[in-house]
This record gives sequence, C-alpha cells and structure tokens, in this order.
Amino acid sequence: MALLVTGGAGYIGSHIVKELARSGYHPIVFDNLSEGHRKAIHGGHLVEGDLKSFDDLHRLFTTYRIDGVFHMAACCYVEESVEDPQKYYLNNLLGTLNLLRAMLEFDVRRIIFSSSAATYGVPQYLPIDEKHVCVPISPYGKSKWFIEQIMFDYAKSHGLEPVMLRYFNAAGADPEGDLGEAHRIETHLIPLVLKVALKQKQKVRVFGTDYPTGDGTCIRDYIHVTDLAKAHVLAYEKHFCGPEIFNLGSGKGFSVREVIEVCRKVTGAEIEAVDAPRRPGDPPSLVASNERAAKELGWRHELGELETMVETAWHWHRKHPNGYTDETEAQKEFFGEIAIRMDFITHEQLDEALKLQKDMDRKGTHKLLGMLMLQEGMLSNSQLIQILKYMETKAKQKVPQGAAPAGKANPAVEKQEEN
Ligand code: UDP
Repeated sequence: MALLVTGGAGYIGSHIVKELARSGYHPIVFDNLSEGHRKAIHGGHLVEGDLKSFDDLHRLFTTYRIDGVFHMAACCYVEESVEDPQKYYLNNLLGTLNLLRAMLEFDVRRIIFSSSAATYGVPQYLPIDEKHVCVPISPYGKSKWFIEQIMFDYAKSHGLEPVMLRYFNAAGADPEGDLGEAHRIETHLIPLVLKVALKQKQKVRVFGTDYPTGDGTCIRDYIHVTDLAKAHVLAYEKHFCGPEIFNLGSGKGFSVREVIEVCRKVTGAEIEAVDAPRRPGDPPSLVASNERAAKELGWRHELGELETMVETAWHWHRKHPNGYTDETEAQKEFFGEIAIRMDFITHEQLDEALKLQKDMDRKGTHKLLGMLMLQEGMLSNSQLIQILKYMETKAKQKVPQGAAPAGKANPAVEKQEEN
C-alpha cells in the first residue's frame, strides 16, 4: 500500500515517513528539497517535484498507486508570511489545490493534512479546544485555515475524507538519533538556543517581553515530533469518513524564558539571551486541549516532557552540527559564501566551479575548490589566501560560519545572522 507524503524530506515529514515505514507502509515522498533533505528520508522513496506543478503530480499519481496522502509540504514561517504573503498563498494554496485535483482524478479520498495552531489566532480561552473560533492573524495561519475550509467543501461535494491535524509547536528529534531539525535558515526557538549552546551562535533573542503572560514572554505548547508522527499513523488507521479536526499538543505551556532555562539545564551551557522587540504575527499564548485526540485517536504523547524534547534535540544537534550536510560540504558552502560576499566571484562562477569539481570527480575539499577557481582564473592568489585566512580565523573563534567578513557589510547576511 503506497502512501504519499508531501514534504516528507522535511523536519516533521521525515519523522512521519519513518513512523509509517515502521508500521509496515510504503511511503512515497514528494518533495522539492527546498527545505527538505535527501538524507532525512528513512524508509521511503523520494520523488522530486513541486506541488505548484500539476504535471509533476499527475506523473506521480500515474506511476504509483496511491492509497492515501499525508500533506505536509508548505511554507511555514510566520514572520516571513507577514513579509511575503503572496509566497504563502501561492505555495500553500495553489500547491494544495493541485494536489486535491490529482487526488480526485485518481480517486484517492483520504488525506491527513498538516494544519496549525496558527489557525486560532489570539486565543479567547485556554486551553484551546477544536471548537475555539479561528481568527488567524498571519498569512501563514490564514493559508492553513483557508485550506481547511477548502477541504470541508471538497468533503461535502467530492467525497474527500480529510483529517486536519492542528499542530502546536513540534520539538525534539528522533530518539534513535536518525532524524532531527535542520532548516536552511533556522527561526525556531529550541534549535536556535541549542546553536548558542554549541557556540555556533553568540546569543538568542527573546522576541517580546511585554506580553500578558507570567514573565512577559510568549507561551507555547511544545510537542515531541515523534509523538506528532505517531498521531498521523493513528489518524490514518482510524479511517474517518467525514472531515475531522484534532489539536496535537501536550496541554502544557512554557514561556520563552522557561524554554531557554530548560536548554541551559540539559546542555550545561550558559546560553546568553537578550531581550528583543516582539516578532510580528506571534500570539501571546497557545496551549492545546488534546482531549479529543486522546479520546478519538487513542493518542498519548509519550515523550511529553519538555526536557525529553530538548534532550533528544540536543543529542541530534551535537552529533550533526551541520545538520544533514557533512563537514566537507559545509566547509565548501562556507568558502563559496565568503568568496561571493567579498565580491571576488559571482553565484554563477561558484556553481560553475562546483560543477567542474564534480565532473573531474575530485573528492573536493574547500581548498581544492579554491585551487580550481585559481586555475580557472576566477580567483587571484591573494584573494584565495584572504578567504582561507578568514576561514581559519573564524574556526579559531568558533564563530558561526555565516558571519560576514569585516568591512563588507551585507544587510541581507546581517539580518540572517541576527536570527
Ligand atoms: N522566539 C524567540 N526567539 C527566537 C525564536 C523564537 O523569542 O529566536 C519565540 C517566538 O517569538 C515564539 C516562540 O519563541 O514566541 C516559539 O517560536 P518558534 O519560531 O519556535 O515557533 P512558532 O510559535 O512561531 O511556531
């Protein structure tokens, strides 16, 4: 029985794929690898493609007999959605509409949809149950809520059988150590705090200290990603016919300061935290009532302690300081980034050099990449030495690899580093 997992190479998707494979299913991962990682797929088969292309989906449904769909692929950063709503509506809505069209054409009715607590907006009461009114306050939250509404309509008129799982804050990593959280640009609290513990970042910013909460910082309900993945398998196996909605959270809230404190305890690191302004699109408190999931799905959050979530995440981050990228690749990426930021080469030249290196079958380190650029006349001797010296200095300082070369201010890079 083939089950399609869109976004199955991402953080939550990869844990779902592993859980499905463990339960005896054959997951087919459909992912454009914009955020996902090939190496994160354990027990599934990858088909690269984009949900915005109906042709890609049609080809997939023609090739495989799909019995059900787990739809995780989406853009999912609240702040980015406030800055670029079009990206969110195009990607999340158009992608889902294409997927549903393909499903109907191939007579697939069952879909487990990755929705979000962001659909609720600012809660009117806590804990939030599924009957709570939805007034999402960010384009990300709205995109998820619109999709839910579309699914209700498709259920009524086209016989779709959607189960919509509203996640609270997914956290932690696969307890077996195979999978973890590795975003290209990290914005989530726990991985960022752990990067400070690893000395890859100097400090963490606390977004907003004047919220109407106990210590003034935002409260969130963290749920272990493996527990979350298990809920998907349960939801699929229940075989609901009509549209269903379930909250997935632990039922307990932790403030940003409390999370940082737990990270200090687990890692034994000092972890510098500085107060910062509120982040747009953040509601003050989100805490789930998970009674419905417990009753109807028989779901238990077995890894429910925040400490367990941080411990499993810490284990992953310590073992994989560069995420799914190995050390040599990370060094090469860093080398290329610096060369571009110093205005020595263009992105196109870097791509060309990397391709050359691959074609020559040179198991390339960043130094070999530099030599190749030298041979090709892309870099001068002194430029190569400048880059290598800069990398050495950074390695000694143990400063995050993304730090910009002195005197070459680049606002885009600085913004990313602040994160
Ligand atoms: N947060 C923070 N500093 C950071 C990242 C996040 O203070 O560097 C806060 C954020 O404002 C929110 C909470 O931590 O209140 C959880 O944010 P995260 O991005 O992890 O998840 P979200 O709640 O946005 O899904």
